[in-house]
Amino acid sequence: MSQRILVTGGTGYIGSHTVVELLSAGYEVEILDNLYNSKIEVLDKIEQIAGTKPKFHKVDLLDMNALQEVFNGGNFDAVIHFAGLKAVPESVEKPLEYYENNVAGTLNLLKAMRSTGVKKIIFSSSATVYGIQESPEYVETMQTGGQLSNPYGRTKYFIEEILKDYSAMDPDFQVGLLRYFNPVGAHPSGLLGEDPNGIPNNLMPFIMRVAEGRLPELKIFGDDYPTEDGTCRRDYIHVVDLAKGHMAMLDHLKPGVSIFNLGSGKPSSVKEIVSAFERASGKELPKSIAARRAGDLPEFWANPSKAEAELGWKTELTIDDVMRDTLNFIEKSN
Ligand code: NAD
Ligand code: UDP
Repeated sequence: MSQRILVTGGTGYIGSHTVVELLSAGYEVEILDNLYNSKIEVLDKIEQIAGTKPKFHKVDLLDMNALQEVFNGGNFDAVIHFAGLKAVPESVEKPLEYYENNVAGTLNLLKAMRSTGVKKIIFSSSATVYGIQESPEYVETMQTGGQLSNPYGRTKYFIEEILKDYSAMDPDFQVGLLRYFNPVGAHPSGLLGEDPNGIPNNLMPFIMRVAEGRLPELKIFGDDYPTEDGTCRRDYIHVVDLAKGHMAMLDHLKPGVSIFNLGSGKPSSVKEIVSAFERASGKELPKSIAARRAGDLPEFWANPSKAEAELGWKTELTIDDVMRDTLNFIEKSN
């Protein structure tokens, strides 16, 4: 019998791509989302791609009664937990809302799982939990939680620690902590992609808005970093590769906590990302050099060897694939 998976945040950017992979692999999927940062139309897009429309619960994780009802009728084998607030600058302005939504929301989820005997969870963590390290190549064994620069990052760190404590209490509990590097790109169909509300903070969504003419120019935050071209370097990972990482994690969950970096291991600079976009679109992007952004590290990237060795997963798509799929998504959405 196929496994039933509850995907929290499943209408969001990474969640929707993962739901498509799950359905295509024959899993039964239900989505829980409060639609704070996503649209109900995503369900139709998922159906167009995967041929099935997953059951949808418009529920907030902070609404314990509604959440419990979903679990009472659910009979889930596992939860993939994407739901959360994720805007770094907003988390500095609204720390209580971030802790409540992300941390208290996860506590509610765990209580509902406990009451219905659901023993498997995969959590969307982030490279941000590494904070500042001596080496820019992050390995899972590095200590986390030191010198985190914002409340968003600390919610990820605290949730990781809560999941470790909970799993230490229940020897049957199975946790996958996936530390994402920089998710980018869109589904090759052009039907799913990143479409944030308001002015984006992240590089690729900002580039997309400039390319669409909705924002005047890209500001490159600093070109005097100690990197080859002076701009910051990050490990960008195509969202479809990232979605597939969750499938590999589901297959390899085991009692206790399993931690994996999901990244390519190959960093790109801001200037390299901009050039790749310009190459793909055939147009120059309006841009200028601006001051450094507070809290940015010059460079970091994943050491993805553990995921390759133990999950049999590695990235397959390139930055050029990211740009092609992003442009296709822009074209299909306008
Ligand atoms: P997203 O905002 O597109 O998706 C998150 C979804 O969760 C949204 O649909 C939102 O409506 C929903 N949600 C938020 N709070 C909720 C609540 N209380 N109850 C129910 N639903 C709620 O974000 P994304 O980029 O797809 O990120 C998914 C997860 O991955 C997040 O936890 C994020 O922190 C994490 N992550 C993202 C990145 C990134 O750069 N995108 C990097 C590392 C980790
Ligand atoms: N960046 C930029 N201009 C922007 C947005 C981002 O130059 O408008 C840079 C940012 O300084 C960082 C890189 O792009 O070096 C990636 O930033 P993003 O916010 O996407 O990811 P993160 O900071 O989480 O790695």
